[in-house]
Amino acid sequence: MSSLGPSQQRTVAIIGAGQTGIAAALGFLNAGFDVTVLSDRDQISLRTDIPATGTAVTFAASQAAERELGLDDYAGRVPLVTGQSTQIFTGVGGNRQDLLDFDTTYLDGARAIGVDTRLKVDERLREFTSRGGHFVISQVTADSLDEIAASHDLTLVATGRGGLSGSFPVDESRTVYDSPQRTLLMVTLTGLEHGSDVFAHRSPVGGEHNTFAVSEEQGELWWGPYLHKDAGPSWSFLGFAKRGSDWEKRFSAAQDAASAHRIVLDVHRDYVDWDLPEVSATRVIEEDPHAWLLGAVTPTVRHAVGVTKSGHPVLALGDTAISFDPIAAQGAQGGLIQSAQLVAAARDYDGPFDEQWLRGTFEHFWESRGRAATLVTRLFLGDAELAHYSQLFFAAAASSPRFASALFGLISDPTPLLGIDTEEAARDWVAGIAGEPVDDLLARSAASGFRYSTYTPQGAEQHSVAQA
Ligand SMILES: Cc1cc2nc3c(=O)[nH]c(=O)nc-3n(C[C@H](O)[C@H](O)[C@H](O)COP(=O)(O)OP(=O)(O)OC[C@H]3O[C@@H](n4cnc5c(N)ncnc54)[C@H](O)[C@@H]3O)c2cc1C
Repeated sequence: MSSLGPSQQRTVAIIGAGQTGIAAALGFLNAGFDVTVLSDRDQISLRTDIPATGTAVTFAASQAAERELGLDDYAGRVPLVTGQSTQIFTGVGGNRQDLLDFDTTYLDGARAIGVDTRLKVDERLREFTSRGGHFVISQVTADSLDEIAASHDLTLVATGRGGLSGSFPVDESRTVYDSPQRTLLMVTLTGLEHGSDVFAHRSPVGGEHNTFAVSEEQGELWWGPYLHKDAGPSWSFLGFAKRGSDWEKRFSAAQDAASAHRIVLDVHRDYVDWDLPEVSATRVIEEDPHAWLLGAVTPTVRHAVGVTKSGHPVLALGDTAISFDPIAAQGAQGGLIQSAQLVAAARDYDGPFDEQWLRGTFEHFWESRGRAATLVTRLFLGDAELAHYSQLFFAAAASSPRFASALFGLISDPTPLLGIDTEEAARDWVAGIAGEPVDDLLARSAASGFRYSTYTPQGAEQHSVAQA
């Protein structure tokens, strides 16, 4: 905590009350700063009028960042998630070939936590204002940003991928793609429990593990336990369709939660029917018309330090600085880690928050997290330049549970990838973790055929007996 009195308190303005902005705001408040959040929406609208920005699942490193900021990481309030079941296949229907199949438990008892960003923002904003933070409803423009930056010691822009992100030019040297790599369909659903009988054909712990079905031609389908703002414990579905695929055509037809749900059911019936009993048990959350999202992200890294027209430096935070395709769950996590690093650096610093200082904090974030986060995203997207690594890693994961945990550990901490720049280094990394030669792992990594679900929703049997 700062030892300065109120009149000497340093001031911070944060534009945007998304999950990144509000986490940073509470962090700065906890560090003794005088904090103002400027939001284009009021608190009720932030909770009820918009969809969640994304599934925003956190893992060990970003949960630690939340705790460093003095925030609840929601552990204990959400359905327990301890690992992930992955299945990779090619073809469809009678021509389907099952390629890889493995069930991973996260390292060191780590947990994945999926919480509705609207719930986090609502609860954290309430805490922020009740503890003396200033909340101002204002659609900030480039002109008003100049005035805000002039009257605060530190100004942060956390307006997401849209908003004021255009004020920060794209960093071409760090940006690999010029278009989205996947079309995304997200929908939160209720009706499916989280017990060990759910997805039991994939994992002995069933509903404690996220599921991931990868079609070589179509893209990826992910299911994960989730805490919805109104329905509470629920499931989040996230579909990633490759450009030009049948899934992309189907996803693009979604117009509301009900049609998104029908598309999810149809895609499973036609492509991933071994999971169909679980998927068929899900239901739309009637009280939330915004429980779905259709979109696409062009992964982009921006020059995160901008200068307003009168020469005041401002720093981009969260999606405004770096936007990720969500395949490796890096966006929300990065925003929390960047915020925690920034608060820690500002708390221990007495000088001006000038351009040089802001640039230094962003470069530290880029080197310690951002660069590796973009790499793991490219790895999971199967980027052509990294395809030989991803093929090796997924095949090795299918025969080494230890390596599978390390591979999925990259989602929490992607930095091990920074040291892997040759095929030899990749093989050494695999062999070192698995404790056996890579060729032995690869020789036994094929799937023997996916098991089909025999799940029966609780109450379904009694219901059919009663009907008979
Ligand atoms: C489908 C999908 C799934 C995802 N899954 C994951 C995941 O599992 N794990 C993970 O880590 N990440 C995930 N992400 C990414 C994650 O959701 C985002 O990185 C994160 O939510 C972004 O938060 P943010 O606060 O930076 O931006 P936003 O949530 O976009 O917040 C920006 C805020 O600024 C406000 N605003 C905009 N313009 C102005 C203005 N001019 N003045 C004032 N206010 C303004 C907006 O209204 C909004 O409230 C996913 C993303 C998608 C699309």
